[in-house]
Amino acid sequence: MSKTGIIFDIKRYSIHDGPGTRTTVHLKGCPLACWWCHNPESQSVAPVVLFRGEKCIGCGSCVKSCHNGAISVRGGTLVTDDGLCDGCGKCCEVCPPEARELCGRHYTVDELMTQLHKDEIFFRDGGGVTFSGGEPFMQPEFLFEALDACGRAGYHRTLDTCGFVSKSVITDSVKRADLYLYDVKHMDPEKHKEYTGVDNVVILENLRAISEAGAKINIRVPFMPGLNSGDENMHALGRFVQPLKGITGVNILPYHTVAKGKHDRWHMEYKLSDLLPPTENQTRHAAGILEGYGLKVHIGG
Ligand code: SF4
Ligand code: SF4
Repeated sequence: MSKTGIIFDIKRYSIHDGPGTRTTVHLKGCPLACWWCHNPESQSVAPVVLFRGEKCIGCGSCVKSCHNGAISVRGGTLVTDDGLCDGCGKCCEVCPPEARELCGRHYTVDELMTQLHKDEIFFRDGGGVTFSGGEPFMQPEFLFEALDACGRAGYHRTLDTCGFVSKSVITDSVKRADLYLYDVKHMDPEKHKEYTGVDNVVILENLRAISEAGAKINIRVPFMPGLNSGDENMHALGRFVQPLKGITGVNILPYHTVAKGKHDRWHMEYKLSDLLPPTENQTRHAAGILEGYGLKVHIGG
């Protein structure tokens, strides 16, 4: 019996998640809570029901469908008790205006591989599979079994990680991954903690560890004007990355406002409502600093 994991999206024909055309598997759960998170609904590992109250027509179908009695009406409002919900998704299937949406579904590795084999033609032509999140290392046993299955099938394997994971687990993954997309969000531990909820000590140690273990690594920097865009931060990043082995390049990912839409949609607080994307001059300037350290820099995914 293959291991079971929780996946919230399988994105086909992705061209920004590693070389060639890829299928990106988004595993649920993340140990960080970045202010600019594009998938805030994916941060918990367990499946969750998302609810858009403005679409609800009050038909009561969801309440009747729930075998766990997890949905009730309180003060005229539908309330879901997450402690009773097992993520079966029935209430979402019966909701006429699609006001309820299940985020996260159980897959066995075999079920996942059945989905991935459908895209094999792209994998034979320079593409592959990318495991992303959330944070893929939040479900290490499922992840490793899936990576091994992809390896047996001859698929190129990319791991998109925030690096906040135990050192033994991430170094153990090196023999199973062809490439890492490794996020470095800030070089200052205090600022990193402020913007993501954790400091960067483990993340930078792990970056060094997988480099020494022979990994190929593409550094990804979400470029946030006024948060991590300063010259000092870019120089600190350049100094840290320059001596590492296996660095294929650095991608600067300019901030855009997609994350705000996601937060608004699910009625979540968004701290960066007033933040504007960087200008081309700002991103070019940051790229120039990193290039000064001999790094190959690409703007965008
Ligand atoms: S997902 Fe299943 S258990 Fe959870 S509220 Fe809906 S019907 Fe009930
Ligand atoms: S099934 Fe959908 S529309 Fe009907 S009460 Fe539940 S959430 Fe509202």
